[in-house]
Amino acid sequence: MTDTTAVHIYNGYEQGPIRPPSEAQSLLLRITRNCPWNRCTFCPVYKGSRFSIRPVVHVLRDLDTVAGHVQQLVTLEANSGSPTEQDLRNLMGRLSHAEIRPFRAALTWYLAGMESVFLQDADSLVLQLPSLLTILKHLTTHFPQIRRITTYGRSATIARMTENNLIALATAGLNRIHIGMESGDKGVLARVCKGSNKETHITAGCLVKQAGIELSEYYMPGLGGSEHYQEHALETADALNRINPDFIRLRTLAIPERSPLAQEVRNGHFSKCSDLLVIKEILLFIENLQGVTGYLASDHILNLLPEVEGQLPQDKERMTHVLRTFLELDRQTQILFQLGRRLGIFTRLADLDDPQRLVEAATVAAEFGVTASSIDAITDDIVRKFI
Ligand code: SF4
Repeated sequence: MTDTTAVHIYNGYEQGPIRPPSEAQSLLLRITRNCPWNRCTFCPVYKGSRFSIRPVVHVLRDLDTVAGHVQQLVTLEANSGSPTEQDLRNLMGRLSHAEIRPFRAALTWYLAGMESVFLQDADSLVLQLPSLLTILKHLTTHFPQIRRITTYGRSATIARMTENNLIALATAGLNRIHIGMESGDKGVLARVCKGSNKETHITAGCLVKQAGIELSEYYMPGLGGSEHYQEHALETADALNRINPDFIRLRTLAIPERSPLAQEVRNGHFSKCSDLLVIKEILLFIENLQGVTGYLASDHILNLLPEVEGQLPQDKERMTHVLRTFLELDRQTQILFQLGRRLGIFTRLADLDDPQRLVEAATVAAEFGVTASSIDAITDDIVRKFI
């Protein structure tokens, strides 16, 4: 791990490149840069970028800058009601170039109600405990209205922490951790260089829950490839059964050209699942969830059937029904749905009952000569534009 805290040059407010979809309303507070692991083969996000820990004083300076802009917005609203676009343009016109970015962050957060904060980047829990506690204290002192502070954490990092340290973070305000489990299968985890095995995932997940912190676990359908989709589904379900997280989030595999996995596809070492196989895998996965009482969320654009989400266990039957309904469609209708969903013509399976949407999808399919053998390559190309 590289710690560049020795270089104490403050280059202004920073934001990292990603956040979970559920943190769209959150203030993004960058406390580290990039990923200390950076080896997962499916992940292109930080490849080629060095990991570093931002000095705590820089993080606090970012926060103070945001607090200053929030105060300006509060004053503006107190004086003249909800700010108009012209008010905001006037305000921005008086800012220096360096102030524009934190102002935009403050504005977005202010308009969203300032209730949640997401600590970036990939593994904030590598910070020393006192540093994290200082940042959390500053946050909760300056913004007492905050209800949720969340972060990404790697299982390998969390499994090395003590329960007492996690409890200290929970007490200081950290109340949700997002973990990229991706798979519970040891073969899949080793092949994609996740840096955590099934036991590490279970240890980390249970520690987070025991500390009273909400736990959100990501599962990546498709990551086993067509050869290992069954073990991938069954072992992931088993790991999650042992943890019982508050949220399971589906994020279907897509393979960006710049990821190491794309090279494995090109040289024939990884066989990507078709949409049909991914749906079979998710069905097998949900059928094998036992005793999980959290929420299964489908909040990622890459998922083919976003309505496969709900509260476990009571919505399990409804979710598996949607998956079976898709699998029982005739092949031509499945193809139209795959294409139409990726193009935004359909948002859910029930949209197939809308004749207008169906005609639109059929027209596009005919125009591009889509067939059963070309549909997955075509939708892969479309999906790559989302990532
Ligand atoms: S740990 Fe997360 S951010 Fe880091 S390489 Fe793996 S998937 Fe990407």
